[in-house]
Amino acid sequence: KLDGRSTFRFFEPAMDARMQARRRLELDMRQALARREFLLHYQPQLSLADDRLVGCEALIRWRHPERGLVSPLDFIPLAEEIGLIVPIGEWVIRQACRDAASWPRPLSVAVNVSPAQFKSDRLVETIVSALSLAGLPAARLEVEITEGVLLQENEKTLHTLHRLRDLGVRVSMDDFGTGYSSLSYLRAFPFDKIKIDRSFVTDICAQTNPGAKADGEAIIRAIAGLGRSLGMTTVAEGVETEEQLHRIRAEGCTDVQGYLISKPLPADDLLRLLGASATPASGARR
Ligand code: C2E
Ligand code: MG
Ligand code: MG
Ligand code: MG
Repeated sequence: KLDGRSTFRFFEPAMDARMQARRRLELDMRQALARREFLLHYQPQLSLADDRLVGCEALIRWRHPERGLVSPLDFIPLAEEIGLIVPIGEWVIRQACRDAASWPRPLSVAVNVSPAQFKSDRLVETIVSALSLAGLPAARLEVEITEGVLLQENEKTLHTLHRLRDLGVRVSMDDFGTGYSSLSYLRAFPFDKIKIDRSFVTDICAQTNPGAKADGEAIIRAIAGLGRSLGMTTVAEGVETEEQLHRIRAEGCTDVQGYLISKPLPADDLLRLLGASATPASGARR
Protein backbone atom coordinates (compact mmCIF):
# COMPACT_ATOMS: atom_id res chain seq x y z
CA LYS A 1 0.00 0.00 0.00
CA LEU A 2 2.83 2.29 0.91
CA ASP A 3 4.45 1.49 -2.44
CA GLY A 4 1.26 2.25 -4.30
CA ARG A 5 1.01 5.59 -2.60
CA SER A 6 4.53 6.66 -3.33
CA THR A 7 4.11 5.58 -6.95
CA PHE A 8 1.01 7.70 -7.17
CA ARG A 9 2.86 10.69 -5.75
CA PHE A 10 5.71 10.09 -8.13
CA PHE A 11 3.44 10.33 -11.18
CA GLU A 12 1.33 13.18 -9.93
CA PRO A 13 3.47 16.11 -11.12
CA ALA A 14 3.90 14.59 -14.59
CA MET A 15 0.17 13.97 -14.84
CA ASP A 16 -0.49 17.50 -13.76
CA ALA A 17 1.83 18.87 -16.43
CA ARG A 18 0.07 16.76 -19.04
CA MET A 19 -3.34 17.99 -17.94
CA GLN A 20 -2.13 21.56 -18.06
CA ALA A 21 -0.69 21.16 -21.54
CA ARG A 22 -3.95 19.67 -22.67
CA ARG A 23 -5.98 22.45 -21.10
CA ARG A 24 -3.72 25.01 -22.78
CA LEU A 25 -4.12 23.31 -26.17
CA GLU A 26 -7.86 23.29 -25.67
CA LEU A 27 -8.01 27.01 -24.85
CA ASP A 28 -5.81 27.86 -27.83
CA MET A 29 -7.91 25.69 -30.12
CA ARG A 30 -11.10 27.40 -29.04
CA GLN A 31 -9.64 30.69 -30.35
CA ALA A 32 -8.01 29.29 -33.45
CA LEU A 33 -11.02 29.41 -35.77
CA ALA A 34 -11.80 33.05 -35.01
CA ARG A 35 -8.13 33.91 -35.38
CA ARG A 36 -7.98 32.13 -38.73
CA GLU A 37 -5.08 29.94 -37.68
CA PHE A 38 -6.23 26.83 -39.54
CA LEU A 39 -5.20 26.14 -43.11
CA LEU A 40 -5.52 23.33 -45.61
CA HIS A 41 -2.81 21.58 -47.52
CA TYR A 42 -3.70 19.50 -50.54
CA GLN A 43 -2.12 16.22 -51.53
CA PRO A 44 -2.59 15.19 -55.18
CA GLN A 45 -3.83 11.74 -56.18
CA LEU A 46 -2.73 10.14 -59.42
CA SER A 47 -4.74 7.75 -61.57
CA LEU A 48 -2.56 4.88 -62.76
CA ALA A 49 -4.67 4.22 -65.85
CA ASP A 50 -3.40 7.38 -67.54
CA ASP A 51 -0.96 8.98 -65.06
CA ARG A 52 -3.21 11.96 -64.58
CA LEU A 53 -4.04 13.85 -61.43
CA VAL A 54 -7.63 13.06 -60.53
CA GLY A 55 -8.07 14.64 -57.13
CA CYS A 56 -6.56 16.07 -53.98
CA GLU A 57 -7.04 15.28 -50.31
CA ALA A 58 -7.50 18.29 -48.03
CA LEU A 59 -5.37 17.95 -44.88
CA ILE A 60 -5.74 20.46 -42.07
CA ARG A 61 -2.84 22.22 -40.35
CA TRP A 62 -2.85 24.67 -37.48
CA ARG A 63 -0.54 27.63 -37.62
CA HIS A 64 -0.08 28.14 -33.89
CA PRO A 65 1.40 31.51 -32.89
CA GLU A 66 4.06 29.87 -30.69
CA ARG A 67 4.29 26.26 -31.80
CA GLY A 68 4.41 26.85 -35.54
CA LEU A 69 2.66 24.46 -37.92
CA VAL A 70 0.89 21.81 -35.84
CA SER A 71 0.05 18.39 -37.33
CA PRO A 72 -3.56 17.20 -37.26
CA LEU A 73 -2.37 14.13 -35.37
CA ASP A 74 -1.59 16.48 -32.47
CA PHE A 75 -4.94 18.28 -32.25
CA ILE A 76 -7.71 16.44 -34.13
CA PRO A 77 -8.13 13.76 -31.42
CA LEU A 78 -8.63 16.42 -28.74
CA ALA A 79 -10.90 18.46 -31.03
CA GLU A 80 -13.00 15.35 -31.45
CA GLU A 81 -13.13 14.67 -27.75
CA ILE A 82 -14.35 18.13 -26.81
CA GLY A 83 -16.70 18.56 -29.79
CA LEU A 84 -14.70 21.33 -31.44
CA ILE A 85 -14.27 19.10 -34.46
CA VAL A 86 -17.79 20.05 -35.56
CA PRO A 87 -17.10 23.76 -36.23
CA ILE A 88 -13.53 23.00 -37.35
CA GLY A 89 -14.82 20.32 -39.71
CA GLU A 90 -17.41 22.72 -41.12
CA TRP A 91 -14.66 25.20 -41.85
CA VAL A 92 -12.67 22.44 -43.60
CA ILE A 93 -15.62 21.52 -45.82
CA ARG A 94 -16.40 25.13 -46.77
CA GLN A 95 -12.75 26.00 -47.43
CA ALA A 96 -12.07 22.84 -49.43
CA CYS A 97 -15.13 23.43 -51.64
CA ARG A 98 -14.12 27.06 -52.20
CA ASP A 99 -10.56 26.14 -53.09
CA ALA A 100 -11.58 23.29 -55.40
CA ALA A 101 -13.98 25.59 -57.26
CA SER A 102 -11.00 27.85 -58.07
CA TRP A 103 -8.79 25.11 -59.52
CA PRO A 104 -8.13 25.38 -63.26
CA ARG A 105 -9.11 21.74 -63.70
CA PRO A 106 -12.11 19.82 -62.36
CA LEU A 107 -10.23 17.58 -59.92
CA SER A 108 -12.13 16.10 -57.02
CA VAL A 109 -11.44 17.26 -53.48
CA ALA A 110 -11.53 14.84 -50.55
CA VAL A 111 -12.23 15.88 -46.97
CA ASN A 112 -11.75 13.77 -43.84
CA VAL A 113 -14.87 13.55 -41.71
CA SER A 114 -14.61 12.30 -38.15
CA PRO A 115 -17.08 10.22 -36.13
CA ALA A 116 -18.18 13.20 -34.00
CA GLN A 117 -19.08 15.13 -37.14
CA PHE A 118 -21.23 12.26 -38.28
CA LYS A 119 -23.09 12.25 -35.01
CA SER A 120 -23.71 15.99 -35.08
CA ASP A 121 -26.77 16.04 -37.40
CA ARG A 122 -25.43 19.01 -39.32
CA LEU A 123 -23.13 17.24 -41.75
CA VAL A 124 -25.46 16.92 -44.73
CA GLU A 125 -26.74 20.49 -44.42
CA THR A 126 -23.18 21.79 -44.07
CA ILE A 127 -22.15 19.98 -47.24
CA VAL A 128 -25.19 21.10 -49.23
CA SER A 129 -24.62 24.73 -48.31
CA ALA A 130 -20.83 24.57 -48.85
CA LEU A 131 -21.31 23.12 -52.34
CA SER A 132 -23.86 25.71 -53.30
CA LEU A 133 -21.90 28.67 -51.86
CA ALA A 134 -18.78 27.55 -53.72
CA GLY A 135 -20.64 26.56 -56.87
CA LEU A 136 -18.93 23.18 -56.77
CA PRO A 137 -20.72 20.17 -58.32
CA ALA A 138 -21.39 17.49 -55.69
CA ALA A 139 -19.60 14.91 -57.85
CA ARG A 140 -16.32 16.72 -57.21
CA LEU A 141 -16.56 16.32 -53.44
CA GLU A 142 -15.44 13.18 -51.68
CA VAL A 143 -15.91 12.34 -48.02
CA GLU A 144 -13.31 10.10 -46.36
CA ILE A 145 -14.37 8.18 -43.31
CA THR A 146 -12.51 5.70 -41.14
CA GLU A 147 -13.92 2.71 -39.37
CA GLY A 148 -14.52 4.94 -36.34
CA VAL A 149 -17.59 6.28 -38.11
CA LEU A 150 -19.01 2.81 -38.75
CA LEU A 151 -17.97 1.47 -35.37
CA GLN A 152 -21.11 2.93 -33.91
CA GLU A 153 -22.84 1.80 -37.05
CA ASN A 154 -26.49 2.43 -36.72
CA GLU A 155 -29.43 3.47 -38.85
CA LYS A 156 -28.48 7.11 -38.58
CA THR A 157 -24.92 6.69 -39.80
CA LEU A 158 -26.05 4.68 -42.79
CA HIS A 159 -28.87 7.12 -43.48
CA THR A 160 -26.37 10.00 -43.54
CA LEU A 161 -24.05 8.08 -45.87
CA HIS A 162 -26.96 7.36 -48.22
CA ARG A 163 -28.07 10.99 -48.17
CA LEU A 164 -24.55 12.04 -49.17
CA ARG A 165 -24.53 9.44 -51.90
CA ASP A 166 -27.94 10.67 -53.15
CA LEU A 167 -26.52 14.19 -53.41
CA GLY A 168 -23.82 12.81 -55.70
CA VAL A 169 -21.01 13.13 -53.15
CA ARG A 170 -18.57 10.22 -53.23
CA VAL A 171 -17.66 8.27 -50.11
CA SER A 172 -14.26 6.68 -49.40
CA MET A 173 -13.16 4.19 -46.77
CA ASP A 174 -9.90 5.60 -45.34
CA ASP A 175 -7.02 3.62 -43.76
CA PHE A 176 -8.51 0.38 -45.06
CA GLY A 177 -7.16 -2.80 -43.50
CA THR A 178 -6.18 -1.35 -40.13
CA GLY A 179 -9.53 -1.87 -38.42
CA TYR A 180 -10.95 -4.90 -36.71
CA SER A 181 -13.62 -5.67 -39.27
CA SER A 182 -12.73 -3.79 -42.40
CA LEU A 183 -14.42 -6.34 -44.64
CA SER A 184 -17.75 -6.11 -42.89
CA TYR A 185 -17.77 -2.33 -43.43
CA LEU A 186 -17.59 -2.91 -47.17
CA ARG A 187 -20.84 -4.82 -46.86
CA ALA A 188 -22.48 -2.16 -44.74
CA PHE A 189 -22.20 0.55 -47.36
CA PRO A 190 -21.29 0.66 -51.08
CA PHE A 191 -18.18 2.85 -50.90
CA ASP A 192 -16.87 4.47 -54.07
CA LYS A 193 -13.26 4.17 -53.05
CA ILE A 194 -11.00 2.13 -50.79
CA LYS A 195 -7.86 3.83 -49.51
CA ILE A 196 -5.32 1.14 -48.64
CA ASP A 197 -3.51 2.11 -45.47
CA ARG A 198 0.06 3.33 -45.79
CA SER A 199 1.35 0.56 -43.50
CA PHE A 200 0.74 -2.04 -46.24
CA VAL A 201 2.60 0.06 -48.79
CA THR A 202 5.51 0.43 -46.36
CA ASP A 203 5.59 -3.35 -46.09
CA ILE A 204 6.12 -4.06 -49.77
CA CYS A 205 9.53 -4.51 -51.32
CA ALA A 206 10.70 -6.66 -48.46
CA GLN A 207 14.00 -7.48 -50.21
CA THR A 208 15.16 -3.90 -50.40
CA ASN A 209 13.51 -2.82 -47.17
CA PRO A 210 14.78 -5.20 -44.47
CA GLY A 211 12.36 -3.93 -41.81
CA ALA A 212 9.31 -4.61 -43.97
CA LYS A 213 6.96 -7.49 -43.44
CA ALA A 214 6.70 -9.75 -46.47
CA ASP A 215 2.94 -9.81 -46.70
CA GLY A 216 2.23 -6.18 -47.56
CA GLU A 217 2.21 -6.80 -51.27
CA ALA A 218 -0.08 -9.83 -51.03
CA ILE A 219 -2.55 -7.80 -49.01
CA ILE A 220 -2.47 -4.96 -51.52
CA ARG A 221 -3.07 -7.46 -54.33
CA ALA A 222 -6.06 -8.88 -52.46
CA ILE A 223 -7.58 -5.47 -51.75
CA ALA A 224 -7.07 -4.36 -55.36
CA GLY A 225 -8.89 -7.51 -56.51
CA LEU A 226 -11.66 -6.90 -54.01
CA GLY A 227 -12.04 -3.34 -55.30
CA ARG A 228 -12.21 -4.58 -58.88
CA SER A 229 -14.94 -7.09 -58.04
CA LEU A 230 -16.94 -4.53 -56.12
CA GLY A 231 -16.45 -1.78 -58.71
CA MET A 232 -14.57 0.45 -56.27
CA THR A 233 -11.53 2.62 -56.92
CA THR A 234 -8.49 1.46 -54.90
CA VAL A 235 -5.94 4.05 -53.80
CA ALA A 236 -2.60 3.07 -52.30
CA GLU A 237 -1.64 5.62 -49.64
CA GLY A 238 1.87 6.66 -48.69
CA VAL A 239 3.77 5.71 -51.86
CA GLU A 240 7.30 7.00 -51.38
CA THR A 241 9.53 5.10 -53.83
CA GLU A 242 9.55 4.20 -57.52
CA GLU A 243 9.77 0.56 -56.57
CA GLN A 244 6.61 0.76 -54.46
CA LEU A 245 4.87 2.50 -57.34
CA HIS A 246 6.00 -0.22 -59.71
CA ARG A 247 4.66 -2.99 -57.47
CA ILE A 248 1.40 -1.20 -56.78
CA ARG A 249 0.83 -0.78 -60.50
CA ALA A 250 1.53 -4.46 -61.01
CA GLU A 251 -0.92 -5.44 -58.27
CA GLY A 252 -3.71 -3.52 -59.95
CA CYS A 253 -4.48 -0.57 -57.69
CA THR A 254 -6.23 2.14 -59.68
CA ASP A 255 -4.79 5.24 -57.97
CA VAL A 256 -1.85 6.33 -55.80
CA GLN A 257 -1.18 9.07 -53.28
CA GLY A 258 2.13 9.69 -51.54
CA TYR A 259 5.29 11.73 -51.23
CA LEU A 260 6.62 10.26 -54.50
CA ILE A 261 3.82 12.01 -56.39
CA SER A 262 3.75 15.04 -54.11
CA LYS A 263 3.74 16.02 -50.45
CA PRO A 264 0.63 17.85 -49.26
CA LEU A 265 0.94 21.38 -50.71
CA PRO A 266 -0.23 24.81 -49.60
CA ALA A 267 -3.19 25.94 -51.73
CA ASP A 268 -1.07 28.40 -53.74
CA ASP A 269 1.56 25.80 -54.59
CA LEU A 270 -1.15 23.41 -55.73
CA LEU A 271 -2.63 26.11 -57.98
CA ARG A 272 0.79 26.65 -59.51
CA LEU A 273 1.21 22.92 -60.07
CA LEU A 274 -2.21 22.60 -61.70
CA GLY A 275 -1.72 25.69 -63.81
CA ALA A 276 1.80 24.82 -64.86
CA SER A 277 1.17 21.25 -65.94
CA ALA A 278 -0.87 21.24 -69.13
CA THR A 279 0.13 17.59 -69.35
CA PRO A 280 -0.73 16.67 -65.76
CA ALA A 281 1.53 13.66 -65.47
CA SER A 282 4.68 15.64 -66.18
CA GLY A 283 3.71 18.03 -63.43
CA ALA A 284 2.85 15.25 -61.08
CA ARG A 285 5.94 13.18 -61.59
CA ARG A 286 8.48 15.93 -61.60
P1 C2E B 1 -5.21 10.39 -43.48
O1 C2E B 1 -6.55 10.89 -43.84
O2 C2E B 1 -4.97 8.93 -43.63
O3 C2E B 1 -4.20 11.25 -44.37
C1 C2E B 1 -3.00 10.76 -44.91
C2 C2E B 1 -1.81 11.16 -44.07
O4 C2E B 1 -0.65 10.53 -44.60
C3 C2E B 1 -1.51 12.65 -44.11
O5 C2E B 1 -0.95 13.00 -42.85
C4 C2E B 1 -0.44 12.74 -45.20
O6 C2E B 1 0.37 13.89 -45.10
C5 C2E B 1 0.34 11.48 -44.91
N1 C2E B 1 1.07 11.01 -46.09
C6 C2E B 1 0.70 11.06 -47.38
N2 C2E B 1 1.61 10.51 -48.18
C7 C2E B 1 2.61 10.07 -47.38
C8 C2E B 1 3.88 9.41 -47.63
O7 C2E B 1 4.25 9.09 -48.76
N3 C2E B 1 4.65 9.13 -46.54
C9 C2E B 1 4.26 9.46 -45.27
N4 C2E B 1 5.08 9.15 -44.26
N5 C2E B 1 3.09 10.08 -45.00
C10 C2E B 1 2.28 10.39 -46.05
P2 C2E B 1 -1.43 14.29 -42.05
O8 C2E B 1 -1.67 15.43 -42.99
O9 C2E B 1 -0.48 14.48 -40.92
O10 C2E B 1 -2.84 13.85 -41.48
C11 C2E B 1 -2.93 12.83 -40.54
C12 C2E B 1 -4.37 12.43 -40.26
O11 C2E B 1 -5.07 13.49 -39.64
C13 C2E B 1 -5.15 12.10 -41.52
O12 C2E B 1 -4.85 10.79 -41.95
C14 C2E B 1 -6.56 12.26 -41.00
O13 C2E B 1 -6.96 11.11 -40.31
C15 C2E B 1 -6.42 13.39 -40.01
N6 C2E B 1 -6.86 14.65 -40.63
C16 C2E B 1 -6.19 15.49 -41.45
N7 C2E B 1 -6.95 16.54 -41.83
C17 C2E B 1 -8.16 16.35 -41.24
C18 C2E B 1 -9.40 17.11 -41.25
O14 C2E B 1 -9.57 18.13 -41.90
N8 C2E B 1 -10.44 16.59 -40.49
C19 C2E B 1 -10.31 15.42 -39.78
N9 C2E B 1 -11.38 14.98 -39.08
N10 C2E B 1 -9.17 14.70 -39.78
C20 C2E B 1 -8.10 15.16 -40.49
MG1 MG C 1 -7.80 10.69 -45.36
MG1 MG D 1 -5.48 7.36 -44.70
MG1 MG E 1 -5.21 8.16 -40.98
